[in-house]
Amino acid sequence: MLHIGCHLSSSKGFLHMGEEAAGINGDTFQFFTRNPRGSKAKEIDPADAKALVDYMEKHRFAKILAHAPYTLNACSKDEKTREFAWMTMEDDLKRMEYVPGNLYNFHPGSHVGQGAEAGIAYIISMLNDILKPEQSTTVLLETMSGKGTEVGRNFEELAAIIDGVELKEHMGVCLDTCHIYDGGYDIVNDLDGVLEEFDRVIGLDRLRAIHMNDSKNPFASHKDRHEKIGEGSIGLETMVKIINYPRLQGIPIYLETPNELDGYGAEIKLLREHYMG
Ligand code: FE
Ligand code: FE
Ligand code: ZN
Repeated sequence: MLHIGCHLSSSKGFLHMGEEAAGINGDTFQFFTRNPRGSKAKEIDPADAKALVDYMEKHRFAKILAHAPYTLNACSKDEKTREFAWMTMEDDLKRMEYVPGNLYNFHPGSHVGQGAEAGIAYIISMLNDILKPEQSTTVLLETMSGKGTEVGRNFEELAAIIDGVELKEHMGVCLDTCHIYDGGYDIVNDLDGVLEEFDRVIGLDRLRAIHMNDSKNPFASHKDRHEKIGEGSIGLETMVKIINYPRLQGIPIYLETPNELDGYGAEIKLLREHYMG
């Protein structure tokens, strides 16, 4: 079973996103929990959230993925910036309980010169502060391309974060194909080797979501510019290998390519046509 969807705007509410996803033959989707710049979140309408939960069950959706605002920096050297990120994510996790049992992804952040180790320590203390034993959401760390001083530039840094978290059962990883290729993991020529390395360093059981994006830039460029599927330096062949990879079966895939809804629909159709399962 290929579970696939794309990033959608949340401006018209939860149920609308579910219908939009199904309308392009998707069975999941990603959305920002609030304006990507991190402003105050709109009140959740519990009836709308419930309507989505019912809709997802009826249409056999895979888990949906909420994405934290990408401007948050949980490991900034500025205390105010860190506090803002921590409070926002804590609030997001409370709100996620309106759609229980799904996924919440965030960018570990940028250490801005303090060094990765210091950054990792901040992220660990935030997670140990905001994760609750009773929560139903799994929190995912996204693999980053390593632009600037980004934390999460390699599998070791993500493993170090998870290692320090007490409630590990609530933690997972979201693998972004553009980011890891940009980050120096050659999924085009050695997908087996990269996934073996992921398994050895983090464990494939932690891999809960895949962001499928082609890249505008060549291998190991640490730039993070997404391209449409098949139109970048990664290419369609590798994407087809990924969706059909035996050990990745069942992991939901989310497109974050530069597209409007119809473009996403075309990519979902293309990938479904290449799915052999
Ligand atoms: Fe992201
Ligand atoms: Fe991503
Ligand atoms: Zn990206």
